[in-house]
Amino acid sequence: MNNIHRRHLLAAGSLAALSAATGKALASPRREPGDDHRGPVSVASGNGVKAVERAWELMNQGRDTAEAIVEGVRIVEEDPNDMSVGYGGLPNERGVVQLDSSVMHGPTHKAGCVACIEDIKTPASVALEVLRRTDHVMLVGQGAKEFAVALGFKEENLLTDRARRAWLRWKANHGPNDDWLNPEQMDWEFNQEGHGTHTAMATPETSPIPFTTGTIHCSALNDKGELSGCTTTSGLSYKIPGRVGDSPIIGAGMYADNEIGSAGATGRGEAVIQCCGSFLAVQFMDQGMSPTEACTAVLKRIADRTKQKRLLNEKGEPNFQVTMYAMRKDGAYGSACMRPGGTFAVCNGEGPRRVNSVPLFG
Ligand code: ASP
Repeated sequence: MNNIHRRHLLAAGSLAALSAATGKALASPRREPGDDHRGPVSVASGNGVKAVERAWELMNQGRDTAEAIVEGVRIVEEDPNDMSVGYGGLPNERGVVQLDSSVMHGPTHKAGCVACIEDIKTPASVALEVLRRTDHVMLVGQGAKEFAVALGFKEENLLTDRARRAWLRWKANHGPNDDWLNPEQMDWEFNQEGHGTHTAMATPETSPIPFTTGTIHCSALNDKGELSGCTTTSGLSYKIPGRVGDSPIIGAGMYADNEIGSAGATGRGEAVIQCCGSFLAVQFMDQGMSPTEACTAVLKRIADRTKQKRLLNEKGEPNFQVTMYAMRKDGAYGSACMRPGGTFAVCNGEGPRRVNSVPLFG
């Protein structure tokens, strides 16, 4: 049996096993037009239409794929109106904007990441410098900022008036709606007397101001078969200071392997970290799944491993959004989302466009 045939059988088997394991009625994996695409392409989350266009242009001018995607996401990082990424991003619970980003370069299999970096507008560019200029993979907090400043990145206040007003509104209203769990919300308690003073549950109904998630992921493949991936974010709004999401974690919010493909995630980072979402998507593609199938299978895994009641709806499905994006080394691409509404951006010779991701649950 040839390799490809054997891989497809493996994929079908693993999807059936996944369905059986979840015990939930799951839509059968869909094959989308992107799964049949071949050749150079750039793919991003739905907020990345300009990013994929820029990455595509730069690749066609001969720029390296990692440089092209970092330049692409920079457009969104510098946009004060995108409140989920870079400048203008929503701050943590103390009103400080802390950014996370990762870049992975397929041809060298090198990675660079920064987490909780403050006062620098373009964390993906800093992550690319970590990759290029150091023997490390991740720099965090003050060290990441000092590294950036030493390289000439400008230090500036990232909290726009609009983001500050949103934070003040949250501060005035949040009550039980923060990231600290009350005793009744802890599915697993270790019984520390005297901690936790809230009594109400933070259900969507009692949450006056929902937390906002948002991020940009971008991957690109050139005509030499080289690929890279990048994810950049201001993370979960009003997070506990120091919280790191999935975006800067290699294998969680982003992973790229030149031999197989690349993947990224947006949405509830905690869920993605706990399932190594992007690494898993790349693994699933290596087993023969199409990009859309791989994204769907990761979401099924996340759904199956979500045990906390406050994260499930009345049907037992996750009540949060995660969107996965995947691109295979031959140019096939796809995306799936936990709940309806996820979109992704793609650019090839036909120009940039936004496409709906395939929802796992209706
Ligand atoms: N995944 C990001 C995080 O958890 C947020 C998002 O994509 O909306 O930090």
